[in-house]
Amino acid sequence: MGNERVIIRMQKNSSNNDLAKLFHTLEKKGFMARYVPYRDDCLVMVEGRPDRSLALQSIPGVREVVTTSTPFPLASLESTNGKASAVEIIPGLKIGGGEKTIMAGPCAVENRDQILECAKAVKKAGAVILRGGAFKPRTNPYSFQGLGSEGIALLVEARKATGLPIISEVMSTEAIEWMLPHVDILQIGARNMQNFPLLKALGKVDKPVMLKRSPMATVDEWLQSAEYILLGGNNRVILCERGIRGVETRTRNTLDLNIVPLVKSLSHLPVIVDPSHGTGIRELVAPMSLAALASGADGLIIEVHPRPEEALSDGMQSLSVPEFTSLMQSISRLIPALAVPEGSEKKCTSVTVM
Ligand code: PEP
Ligand code: MN
Repeated sequence: MGNERVIIRMQKNSSNNDLAKLFHTLEKKGFMARYVPYRDDCLVMVEGRPDRSLALQSIPGVREVVTTSTPFPLASLESTNGKASAVEIIPGLKIGGGEKTIMAGPCAVENRDQILECAKAVKKAGAVILRGGAFKPRTNPYSFQGLGSEGIALLVEARKATGLPIISEVMSTEAIEWMLPHVDILQIGARNMQNFPLLKALGKVDKPVMLKRSPMATVDEWLQSAEYILLGGNNRVILCERGIRGVETRTRNTLDLNIVPLVKSLSHLPVIVDPSHGTGIRELVAPMSLAALASGADGLIIEVHPRPEEALSDGMQSLSVPEFTSLMQSISRLIPALAVPEGSEKKCTSVTVM
């Protein structure tokens, strides 16, 4: 799958001169090389497989030369030597790295009272991040489209009132710059998973991005979308499974929990599960939340509304506050049973699907 490429990891103290020499050696032989600042590393990605006679390893500044054929080298588990990564949201709060992070809030920010009431309630129940859509990607153009910038301002107010960091969907490249200073995590909705200009633009921002899986995407397509953001230099990427289109019509989507352990065998990126969109049915949200955590998810994003029957979007799948509170109690009983004994870190292997 994919083309062979070589990833060259430079030494921390390598100089511009070292890089220039490396590029010169490669380009002289017709290889296309690209510089990628990634995490604490300085990488050079080379398309193709330079042969040994180039002696890349002996060029000053070169630390490691790895040949790979994965189409998502930066997202791959190999790139971190098998270590799952954690994404810092704000100082003291990470997603991944053994934490189970619960995000909750309404599908859409509807008005001041609703978001403030909801934010306070989900915080009281134990959520650590507040969700709320201001720009809503609705199937029907007559449906509530979200409050737009006013919705973001209300989320900011809710963060002030509760201290909860906020996650909200960004639907267009133009909106990124405007939303950036206000939100703590930018969500890419399922419908935009392959909006490549948007992915490229998010590669340039200094904010965590949660990339939802398209209902029609394979795991490889999803990870290649994540690769776009990583390749731009933004290493704070979180994946989110939210259900795919299957044969079942009684549920809104088919929550694909297979992919949680599968992605973890392929990629170091944290995986969040969205059981609200994954099921579309309130009664299924709690059992699938527990199943998602048991499958190895790093956390959940759950729709909660103070009065789900009055919600302007996704009321059918939104939990009431008492339902969410009771789910959080079950989660806190489940988490200790899921703790992975120390030292049993995953090996860097990939699963072969026949
Ligand atoms: C949402 O989170 O409200 C949403 C629209 O999700 P998705 O992009 O997964 O449909
Ligand atoms: Mn929704």
